[in-house]
Amino acid sequence: MPASSASASVPAPWCSNASSTLASSVSASGPARSCSNASGPAPSSSNASAPASTNAAAAARRAAAGSAAAGSATWAADNRRGGRAPPRPLVASAEAGRMHVVFPVVPFADIGRPAMGVGLLIAEARAAGHSAEAVYLNIDLAGLVGMVPYQRIATSFPPNLLIGEWIFAGELFGDGTASPQDFIADILMPFLGEDADLYASMMRIRQLLPAYLDRCIAEIMARRPDVVGFSTVFHQTCACLALAQRLKALPDPPVVVFGGANCEGEMGWQMIRSFPWIDYLCSGEADISFPRLLDRLAARGNDPVPGVLEQGAAEKAPLRSVGVTAMDALPYPDFDDYFARLASSPLAGQFDGHLVFETSRGCWWGAKHHCTFCGLNGDTMAFRSKTPDRAFAEITWLAERHKAARIGCVDNILDMKYVTTLFPRLAQAGYHLDLFYEVKSNLRLDQLRLMRAGGVTQIQPGIESFSDPVLKLMQKGCTGFQNIQLMRWCSELGIEVSWNVLAGFPGEEPQEYAAMARLMPRLTHLDPPCSCGILRLDRFSPFHSRAEELGIRRMRPARAYFYVYPLGRRELQRLAYFFDFDHADGRDPDSYIRPVQAEVLRWQAARMAAAGPPALDAEFDAGGVTIRDSRAVATRPLHRLEGLAARLYALCDSTATLAGLASSADAAPSRIEAALDQLDRDRLIARQGDRVLALAVFRIRPPTPQEQSHGLPQAAVA
Ligand code: SF4
Repeated sequence: MPASSASASVPAPWCSNASSTLASSVSASGPARSCSNASGPAPSSSNASAPASTNAAAAARRAAAGSAAAGSATWAADNRRGGRAPPRPLVASAEAGRMHVVFPVVPFADIGRPAMGVGLLIAEARAAGHSAEAVYLNIDLAGLVGMVPYQRIATSFPPNLLIGEWIFAGELFGDGTASPQDFIADILMPFLGEDADLYASMMRIRQLLPAYLDRCIAEIMARRPDVVGFSTVFHQTCACLALAQRLKALPDPPVVVFGGANCEGEMGWQMIRSFPWIDYLCSGEADISFPRLLDRLAARGNDPVPGVLEQGAAEKAPLRSVGVTAMDALPYPDFDDYFARLASSPLAGQFDGHLVFETSRGCWWGAKHHCTFCGLNGDTMAFRSKTPDRAFAEITWLAERHKAARIGCVDNILDMKYVTTLFPRLAQAGYHLDLFYEVKSNLRLDQLRLMRAGGVTQIQPGIESFSDPVLKLMQKGCTGFQNIQLMRWCSELGIEVSWNVLAGFPGEEPQEYAAMARLMPRLTHLDPPCSCGILRLDRFSPFHSRAEELGIRRMRPARAYFYVYPLGRRELQRLAYFFDFDHADGRDPDSYIRPVQAEVLRWQAARMAAAGPPALDAEFDAGGVTIRDSRAVATRPLHRLEGLAARLYALCDSTATLAGLASSADAAPSRIEAALDQLDRDRLIARQGDRVLALAVFRIRPPTPQEQSHGLPQAAVA
């Protein structure tokens, strides 16, 4: 399915229409925005059986608590109305030095996959001797309102509009949050225009929330938690706070702990100061700090835990958590509760939940050249990865346990060592997986072949632009032609490319967008971008930390925050992850990116055409190459190139220079120039300065010298 069409049903998690930065930040350990955090037991073979046995214990515990569950809904509702609640019984596990943790997974987490961070924290809490389980309350809300409306809100809109936050803010803050009329008119309409379906869904969900939240509280309390752990990523904070507020209104409430990417650094500090329903908050990687906090709570100790803030004493706690260095020491994540919930929900059978896994944290590119817009990783950019042996064992274990082939990797960037280790091993073992990875776009064809053979069917390469000067401003470390080259090779191998156009970088020249708009009609046979949008300013990015130096001024919390939270500007400045800003030179990128946006829409429409997507396919044979062209810009449907033109076309499979062509094609520069001119007029190549790139997808590759001597073409697909 093309990336741009994914939002209609349960979309691929990786095809977010937001800019690639936050879109890619799935978060492994609970508390962490993108890549995450962890430390725990060794992934020995005994690890594999641990989740099953501990889950059985959890199931028994739930069964024992079952009789209390039915009455709990009334209890919670009565309590909110001021009624008298029954006293909470002593918790046996706490007395025995063990804590029982419940992790509610709240809206608007994507229902199409389990929560990576929660799955890992469950395993880490168990490894430390505690018991833990997840309650996928997001699936319940999706069951109430319908999968499509829920998923639209969860995954289809820019996260800085805070739609999910606003929906829960009314229950949380009452009149302190903006009215529907104001939020829709001031925040949503300018970006989304009239979207009656969306606005009706939002209002309907708001009406359902009081009863829904009461049921959530009943369900959480029926599991008799000592600790309730909320992991907030993307727009989940207000849902977490609304539940925490209700929990803390109960007599003898459980301990409430917050974590997740939205709690990192100063954001977490402000959160625990502003919201008294949070007892503890894990800031940064929590793989080590969260189990230590559980130990401390079980022992009724009060030693500070690095990275953990405490209500009323936040300023005293050290902010930095201890990060994971040995990735192989992490336990396997536990996703049993997700798949069980899905199977028993009204949505069962409507879609298959897919798996997520983590093989690395941080970014090896960002550690050297931090892309200027990238807010992933917070303070944890240092790259760490699992050994290929461990990665293989974990992926295959997860796939077999959950009988799922579709697996999305939450890593920010592919560890290149996997290309020649992990993927060949997966291919050799005969696993037919359907893997997603985020990659850097300068991969070679031979590397892509190994990945495809190992099961990689979708990548997010962070393409962002075809303009070299704009890519340089981003510090992406690749060129526009490398991006196109990658897209062609992926099309050849059957790998879907998910990407966005990002615009609005300080210092960029408007003519770069005019050039991109001219180029795009030639590329409509390749995967279109999911979106084309203006740069979003995220916390932790160089644009945030070095704003003035990079041409940013008047940085302020994104406007939507003022419509959600009844907090002052200074507090929001600390709480926010998304920011609005002005360009120091006063530029208005909207004034010059419209032609590109129009071409992106045409490209997306062409991809969805009833007659099928456009094609530009090249098939080489011993005598030349036949090119079939069904793009809107085709000069004719069929081209036949022979002799020098065919040789040049084969040489331009990867970016070629005029000097390189002259030495390889064995022809006079004037003849080469004339042949390239014709190819350019037929829109079969792209040219930039002295560089040339073929645009067609090589369905049958040029014969190798050996094959040429036998007159055999080379098969296109590895
Ligand atoms: S490659 Fe750039 S955008 Fe991607 S995670 Fe690394 S620093 Fe961020």
